[in-house]
Amino acid sequence: MREDIAQVLVTGEQIKQRVKELGEAISRDYEGKDLLVVGILKGAIIFLADLVREITIPITLDFMAVSSYGSGTSSSGVVRILKDLEVPVEDKHVLIVEDIVDTGLTLKYLLDNLRARQPLSLKCCTILDKPERRLVDVQIDYRGFCIPDYFVVGYGLDYNQKYRHLPDICVLKPEVYRRS
Ligand code: 5GP
Ligand code: MG
Ligand code: MG
Repeated sequence: MREDIAQVLVTGEQIKQRVKELGEAISRDYEGKDLLVVGILKGAIIFLADLVREITIPITLDFMAVSSYGSGTSSSGVVRILKDLEVPVEDKHVLIVEDIVDTGLTLKYLLDNLRARQPLSLKCCTILDKPERRLVDVQIDYRGFCIPDYFVVGYGLDYNQKYRHLPDICVLKPEVYRRS
């Protein structure tokens, strides 16, 4: 595992500190409001698990799964809902929790789709933002880290469904991609 990693971009310790700050900001902003936190499977699960434990107000949790990338490292641009919410959102403030905003196509799709269901409010929180690759304009309300244009794994993010459990956000060695 470790021999596949070229560089650690963000350490687990740095993530921990930042997630705490995000949780505090969210708790402050949604005080007294009915907040539904929507985790986007699978990439956001580790971030979501850490984030919600830093949130000090009552919340409810739900999940959506979407497909945007195939098995490779570039976006297909086609977004499909694989799993939808279990609850209606008209009476709720909705916060989408994402792993990374890259081209922005996935987030744009999610925002448009959820906005059409008329929630009380709709915002987004992502642990990583790769602004250099943006193709569509999307608003990010809570952002963990801005990173350069690297394909990263760890802290929930995968390459071919692997490396999600790494505690740091890492760049893989080029030969890992060449192998597959
Ligand atoms: P977007 O639609 O913004 O281009 O991409 C969103 C999705 O693509 C993310 O939720 C994530 O699943 C995947 N993605 C984008 N950049 C990366 C990356 O650097 N590493 C990994 N593992 N996935 C990425
Ligand atoms: Mg995602
Ligand atoms: Mg993926």
